[in-house]
Amino acid sequence: MRLAVLAGLLLAAPVNAEGWSLALHGGAGVIARDQFGPGEEAAIREALGKALETGAAILGAGGSALDAVEATVAALEASPHFNAGVGAALTLAGTAELDAAIMDGATRRAGAVTGVTTTRSPIALARKLMETGPHVFLAGPAADAFARRHGLPQVPNSHFITPERQRMLKELNAAGPSASFDATLRFGTVGAVARDRAGNLAAATSTGGLTGKAPGRVGDAPVIGAGTLAENGACAVSATGSGEIFIRARAAGQICDRLRFLGQPLQAAAEAAIADVGSLGGSGGVVALDAKGAIAFAMNSPGMYRAAATAAGRREIRIFAEE
Ligand code: ASP
Repeated sequence: MRLAVLAGLLLAAPVNAEGWSLALHGGAGVIARDQFGPGEEAAIREALGKALETGAAILGAGGSALDAVEATVAALEASPHFNAGVGAALTLAGTAELDAAIMDGATRRAGAVTGVTTTRSPIALARKLMETGPHVFLAGPAADAFARRHGLPQVPNSHFITPERQRMLKELNAAGPSASFDATLRFGTVGAVARDRAGNLAAATSTGGLTGKAPGRVGDAPVIGAGTLAENGACAVSATGSGEIFIRARAAGQICDRLRFLGQPLQAAAEAAIADVGSLGGSGGVVALDAKGAIAFAMNSPGMYRAAATAAGRREIRIFAEE
């Protein structure tokens, strides 16, 4: 009764009306079993599990969905295995420019930042912006300045840069101009959605964007309604994939609208949005949950790092689409 697998693309959980639910992703893309170095897959699963337990502990103790998604995403930002915070994908100039957003489904307040270069936790910055107002979206040096004014820890840009991401950028440059950016589409953005015991929803997403992106490029993750969205009574979504296409498909908004206005079940809505992304030539996936805490994962890529936990005791960590 636990899982239904639809067309090998979608996993759905039963409704969890009374308790809390949490789902996270660590990015989607061309993730193949033979690409991992020794111990790498196990280390990634461990990092996903740790982040999951961080959020689950908050929800289990009666904490808010908002606190849970922020803490889950912050744990993934701190891990070099994912494209957020430490280990972020690099721009064409070899720098890290980070995007993040968080949204509270109860109030529909949101905070979003783009082009962050010195703030250690972009998701903490997005949360601070949301709490402080009046603005929803801050960009570049102004976002880092806001973080400094509010005492959020600062680091040199090199803090985010790992040898693996430098190697990926070099590989991309060697492939020449036809490679466009991120030829492997091995993403790694991180995100989380949660429903707390009070029934409130929240979503958070954090990313370095795409390897070889132009400096100044903004992806879908910080765009409310594209890569991140939470609306009580509808759904919460965090996306990963080809950001330009997720923006054009307004992927997260499309999923919640399908629930609100068409009455579609979450699973079908998530699948339809990913199909729409695919029809525009995009790839990636989403984690989503509905007002009752049912969880859906949908993707059109060979893999997506993902995990789920519920009050009912569900715990799962998956990587490959067919898992
Ligand atoms: N969606 C992100 C972006 O385009 C990339 C990713 O998911 O890894 O910025």
